[in-house]
Amino acid sequence: GDDEKEDSGVRGRHRRNGSFGVKKVKVVVESPYIKLQVWCRQQKGNWELGKIQSTSEEEACVSLSNGNVMKVSRLALLPANPDILEGVDDLIQLSYLNEPSVLYNLKSRYTQDLIYSKAGPVLIALNPFKDVQIYGSEYVEAYKQRCNDNPHVYAVADAAYNEMIRDEVNQSIIISGESGAGKTETAKIAMQYLADLGGGSCGIENDVLQTNFVLESFGNAKTSRNDNSSRFGKLIEIHFSALGKICGAKIQTCKNFQSRVVQLANGERSYHIFYQLCAGASPDLRDRLKLRTASEYRYLNQSDCMTIDGVNDDKKFQGLVKALDVIRMSKQDQERVFKLLAAILWLGNITFHETDNENHIEVVDDEAATIAATLMQCSLKELMVTLSTHKIKAGKDTITKKLTLRQAIDTRDALAKFMYANLFDWLVEQVNKALEVGKRRTGRSISILDIYGFESFQKNSFEQFCINYANERLQQHFNRHLFKLEQEDYELDGVDWTKVEFEDNQVCLDLFEKKPLGLLSLLDEESNFPRATDLTLATKLKQHLSSNPCFKGESGKAFSVRHYAGEVTYDTNGFLEKNRDPLPSDSIKLLSSCSCELLQSFSQVLDPSQQTNSSHLGAMESKRQSVGTKFKGQLFKLMHQMESTTPHFIRCIKPNAKQVPGIYDEDLVLQQLKCCGVLEVVRISRAGYPTRMTHQEFAKRYGLLLSEAHTSLDPLSISIAILQQFNIPPEMYQVGYTKLYLRSGQVGVLEDRRKHIL
Ligand code: ADP
Ligand code: MG
Repeated sequence: GDDEKEDSGVRGRHRRNGSFGVKKVKVVVESPYIKLQVWCRQQKGNWELGKIQSTSEEEACVSLSNGNVMKVSRLALLPANPDILEGVDDLIQLSYLNEPSVLYNLKSRYTQDLIYSKAGPVLIALNPFKDVQIYGSEYVEAYKQRCNDNPHVYAVADAAYNEMIRDEVNQSIIISGESGAGKTETAKIAMQYLADLGGGSCGIENDVLQTNFVLESFGNAKTSRNDNSSRFGKLIEIHFSALGKICGAKIQTCKNFQSRVVQLANGERSYHIFYQLCAGASPDLRDRLKLRTASEYRYLNQSDCMTIDGVNDDKKFQGLVKALDVIRMSKQDQERVFKLLAAILWLGNITFHETDNENHIEVVDDEAATIAATLMQCSLKELMVTLSTHKIKAGKDTITKKLTLRQAIDTRDALAKFMYANLFDWLVEQVNKALEVGKRRTGRSISILDIYGFESFQKNSFEQFCINYANERLQQHFNRHLFKLEQEDYELDGVDWTKVEFEDNQVCLDLFEKKPLGLLSLLDEESNFPRATDLTLATKLKQHLSSNPCFKGESGKAFSVRHYAGEVTYDTNGFLEKNRDPLPSDSIKLLSSCSCELLQSFSQVLDPSQQTNSSHLGAMESKRQSVGTKFKGQLFKLMHQMESTTPHFIRCIKPNAKQVPGIYDEDLVLQQLKCCGVLEVVRISRAGYPTRMTHQEFAKRYGLLLSEAHTSLDPLSISIAILQQFNIPPEMYQVGYTKLYLRSGQVGVLEDRRKHIL
């Protein structure tokens, strides 16, 4: 078995064509490929398994597994792994880590419902899109007892728990992947395991699990990619007592993108809670809220999608109310929340009619306006004035001007979004109060981070800009941690780790964060400039950032960033407006005049002393922190908290875009492996010394290759003699106290020789 594992006949230049090739490492010896199993690139770009029949300088003749024989350029070949390595549970075990090998290995596991694999320290989770029978108490028990060593989320959670108990160091489980890849489910599975392990008599672990329900109702929505897509990033910190029992939890969230409340694309829905409320409210509640069916609200019916297959919104609503009870939210507060939601829906139904031929409008005085005002507990007149006019300060006087239709709609929508955003934050606060940890002490918590993954579309906007920036930060955390792990290993064995190359993404982070010349600062600067447009923003960015190698100016309003996961082109259209996320001060005044306590408290979020009249359109606006800056702040807080933990990484992968079981789309998987840094992990470990053998092992295996017998010598001396005889360059290996460390590809030479002799 072992013989085959290190059987590496194929090296050479073509190796570098695979994404795993290591830069700056010299490649040694060309050897014939005869009979070697290879991946052969087909015209369509996919890879087929085959065996080499013969080779010439440039070409090889390959017989494919489907019976065809083809002549191909040697550049179109990559070495394949021996059969015994098919479907290994850790990619690190593969002799060849090229793309087709990794893809094939994961596919072979996926078809057997083995959805979890490892890439060294990282757990890879492929979304099965069906129930796989690998969860529940029997499995929990097996992982607890360590009688199951297949990769699993349970194993990750178990490791985190045990390390926490053993070292008294806070732990984190960092879950990433693109939308629909399974992050939120994975987070829940991990939480379930921890609740099982750390369940006590007080039952708080159940409260912790119930919070998922609340957060999902208010923070998740159906998108084209995931029927239950979380629109916010979250970090759940679970605290344990000295006895290892759960004693509380804390939730932190990161930017919830609210445009969904007022604007929907076909096939998508707004946040679940709106449909749940409309479907599930009791007749009494409906009456009090003047509630109609979801299809009667403009904010919801602008999309053609009102329901989700297999989901009963009515039932979900009953579940939500139970969950709110569990987190001890009073019935009165629950009613306040529902009232606000209904108010938002009615706001959306408010319409305007034009009063002159310059597009100026007035609010239509109909039931929508009346009910919205009733639910918000403000005067109807004030609501109507706020939505149809703005006040401009001219010296000591204030002039009231009518809004145009576009401005009025924007004002109305901004109010709705603001109300929802604050409602969400308030809810998180309530959840935290309910789960509050008494005396907290460090060293006994496990944080689970579920954050939106890297996104790259045809058209990328401000949302992708923020999300990808967050992922860039996360990637640095990931790189540094993995590198540190390697480093510790080397240090323990007396190896000089400074010789390990490691690509940091600091340059890209600088591009975003540098002050005053970074993407975020320049965006803020331009956002504060009344006459700025998206085009002037783009021009400014190009002017100041072109010297950063991660930045690339594009034509017109676009620019590109070279992210760790690939280049993304952003369209600055709407950047300024989304970054400002303005709420006219008239709206703030309106909110503070509401007798609804929640709305009143929301208006206090904005410090009126900071209000200025300098902003665009001449309207007075509160000068809130820009969205970009706020996002950065939240991210820093999260990352800061993660710094002091021992991380465990899970990378979720979506095997197909249709959200169906059984389909493994190779291109899609490959693209995600690249994006979520799994290929990077391998690259980092390959940039080090992936082959490690003790002096004894090495001497025993290759001693027979020595031209002179050295039987009298110790294993270390034999090892060194072998390395010298084969002219392995000194930069290709290091000698540790106990082991030899070799760069990738180096043992191949020795293995070839060994095969010849045996
Ligand atoms: P993400 O949070 O990454 O956007 P989700 O966790 O919401 O993705 O998963 C999307 C859908 O995929 C889920 O609603 C569920 O149907 C399915 N899914 C994800 N993980 C699993 C799993 N381990 N077992 C079964 N189905 C899963
Ligand atoms: Mg999610």
